[in-house]
Amino acid sequence: MSDKIEAAVLEEFRKPLKIRRFERPKLKEGEILVKITASGVCGSDVHIWKGLDPRVAPPIILGHEGVGVIDEIAGEKFDVFGRPLNEGDAVIWDRGVVCGMCQYCTVHKAQSLCVNRWTYGISKPCSEPPYLNGCYSEAIVLHEKTRIIKIEGSANPVTLVPASCSGATSAHSFELHPPKIGETVLILGPGPLGVFHVAFSKEHGASNIVVIGGTKERLEMCKKFGATEIINRHETSLEEREKMILELTEERGVDVAYECSGTISAFMEGLRHLRIGGAFVVPGFGVPSGTATIDCFHLITRKNVKIQGVWVSDTEHLYRAVKLVQSGKYPFHELVTHTKSLAEATEALQLVEERRAVKVVLTPS
Ligand code: ZN
Ligand code: ZN
Repeated sequence: MSDKIEAAVLEEFRKPLKIRRFERPKLKEGEILVKITASGVCGSDVHIWKGLDPRVAPPIILGHEGVGVIDEIAGEKFDVFGRPLNEGDAVIWDRGVVCGMCQYCTVHKAQSLCVNRWTYGISKPCSEPPYLNGCYSEAIVLHEKTRIIKIEGSANPVTLVPASCSGATSAHSFELHPPKIGETVLILGPGPLGVFHVAFSKEHGASNIVVIGGTKERLEMCKKFGATEIINRHETSLEEREKMILELTEERGVDVAYECSGTISAFMEGLRHLRIGGAFVVPGFGVPSGTATIDCFHLITRKNVKIQGVWVSDTEHLYRAVKLVQSGKYPFHELVTHTKSLAEATEALQLVEERRAVKVVLTPS
C-alpha cells in the first residue's frame, strides 16, 4: 500500500462524500493497519449521511462494516481464539469497541450495552487520531481493544461483510428471543437485517417464515433464504395481510415477530399480527423514527405479549453470523447485489436509500 491512503469522507450532511488522502499512520503499540477489501453500505450509513444519527459529527469516514487484510501490526497480536495475527491475514472485527470494565461489561454480561462502547465509522471523526477510523477507506487502523476474528477458508470475504452489522445484530435478536421448533415467525422488513432474520429463523426450526415488505427484489431474496411466505405491502391492505396471517396460523397469529424495518407503521402492524402470548423482537430502529400510539389493553396486556428491544451486538453475535455465512447453507453470495468503488460511495448510499439494491459494498482496494 502506498504512503497516501484514500478515504471517502462525509464533511457535510446530505452532500456528496469527498475523496480525501491521509498519510499512512505510524501505529501505536497494539494497533493494526488493515487494508480494506470490502466495506458494507448499511442503512444506518444513509441515516448518518442525512444527519439523522445523533451520535455522529463530521468530518467522518463512514463505514462500520468491513473485512480486510492485515497490512501492518504494532506488536504481537492474536484473534479472539488466540490465533496469532500476521501481515497478510484476512480478518473481520467487532465494529464496536467496549471497555470491559463498566457494569454492563462485567455485572450484567451484556457488552453490547457497554456505556463506553464506540463504533468505527460512527463515533470517531477523521480529525481525531489515528484518523483512519472508518471502512469507506483503503485502510483502517484497528484500536488495540478491537476484537478480531481471523477469516479462514477460501470463501469470498465480501460475503462476510454483512455479517459484521446486520448479521451480528440478527444473532443478538435470536439470542434474546429465538423461535421454538415448529413456530411461525413474522419478519417485517426484507433488507439485509430481515434476510439474516429469515436464515436464523430457519436455523432455529421455525416452520413458517412470513416476510412483509415493500420491495419485490428484497422479498424474493428472503424467499431464497427460506421465507415460506412473502407479502408485498404495496399489493395488499393491512386487513388483507391480517387475514392471510390468521389463515396461516389457524386463526392464532404469529408466535414471534421481528421488526427489521425501523418504521412505526411496521411496528404497529407487527403488534397486531402477534398471537396471545407471542413475542415481539425489535432490532430495526437504528435512529429516532417517531412515536407510536398503542392500544395497550388490546395489543399488550390482554395479549400477554413480550416486547424485546435489540441494540447492536457483541463479539459472540458477530461470530455466530460469520459461522452462519460460512456454513454454506444460504446463498449469501447473492445478497451483495452491487459492488462500487470508493469514488462511487455517494451513489452507493443513494442505491441503499432508494432501496434499489439489497446489499451494496464498496471495494476500496
Ligand atoms: Zn450497520
Ligand atoms: Zn463497558
